[in-house]
Amino acid sequence: MKRLLCICLAGLLAIALVGCGTIAPEEAHESVQTFAMDTVMIFSAYGEGGTKATLAAEAEVQRLDALLSRTREDSEISRVNATTGAPTRVDPEVAGLIEESLAVHSATGGYFDITLAPVSDAWGFTKDAHRVPSQSELDALLGIVGMERMSWGNGEITLSPGMAVDLGAIAKGYASDRVADIFRMNDIPSGMVSLGGNVWVCGGKPDGTPWRVAIQDPKQSDGYAGVLSLRDCFAVTSGGYQRFFEENGKTYHHIIDPATGYPAESGLTSVTVVSAESGALCDALSTALFVMGEEKALDFWRSGPYDIELVLVTADDRVVVTDGLRDVFEEMGESGYTYEIVR
Ligand code: ADP
Ligand code: MG
Repeated sequence: MKRLLCICLAGLLAIALVGCGTIAPEEAHESVQTFAMDTVMIFSAYGEGGTKATLAAEAEVQRLDALLSRTREDSEISRVNATTGAPTRVDPEVAGLIEESLAVHSATGGYFDITLAPVSDAWGFTKDAHRVPSQSELDALLGIVGMERMSWGNGEITLSPGMAVDLGAIAKGYASDRVADIFRMNDIPSGMVSLGGNVWVCGGKPDGTPWRVAIQDPKQSDGYAGVLSLRDCFAVTSGGYQRFFEENGKTYHHIIDPATGYPAESGLTSVTVVSAESGALCDALSTALFVMGEEKALDFWRSGPYDIELVLVTADDRVVVTDGLRDVFEEMGESGYTYEIVR
């Protein structure tokens, strides 16, 4: 959307959507809410196929949760992680996600890494048993993680003992791609899908105006840092305010810097990636660019291989919006942020 194909835009969270004055789910022709991938998901669809599409969407995200979950013992990911030291063939859908993850790992210079799972475990994020690991523990783990250390080819993965993969930073975005396919197959003219920070808007609102997607203020759960007016677009936010714990007055969140093993401290408090093309890509990139920080993220936007737009919220209270969103981004008065459009 550097060339903005559509008048789209973004915001996040169904709650935010509703809070922003979009049509409330109960007014939708059909709206289904479910819990999957550790988050609340909402599917709203207008038009004749609405009931069929939203029920199929719910079944699809539950299927993907069962396939991709790292914590469910019977998932494909658990099976893969239990097989270290020897090649194992993986389910074709998981293979596609591993290949996309490798592509994003490479394009982002390693900031996106699905093998950080043992590091996330050490911080206790996987089982909600939070703790601050020692530097020596992290150093030892950093010696065994890294996508360059896993071997991949012909649909087979080989993980060394101690390694594990976690698709948590791309799975919800991929699920949004699959749900978008279901909506399109059912000819849904207008709808909205929110999978915990991963939003896809289908068409515009029934009245013909764009959907309004609010970007949560990382500093306050009931405030917004801005609103995007979008059609047929994915908008995905990653932020350090979503999952975190505090110890001795310091906050530790769940997005890990592969270089240090610590929660990323890049000066950003949230990253929203907008694209008309792929929810999985938006999801993976929102995580990677959060770790990169403002300067590198903007360089990536300018010179990277992807047609994306960004909204970066910084710890020093700025909201940085890339030029392709200029006409669809709305500032929030009295939010305390200053706003910049960058080219
Ligand atoms: P959320 O899942 O809360 O929407 P993200 O999409 O940013 O947030 O994904 C964060 C999850 O991805 C973490 O919970 C962890 O499982 C995994 N993860 C953490 N750091 C990274 C990273 N640098 N690269 C890839 N995956 C990561
Ligand atoms: Mg992500």
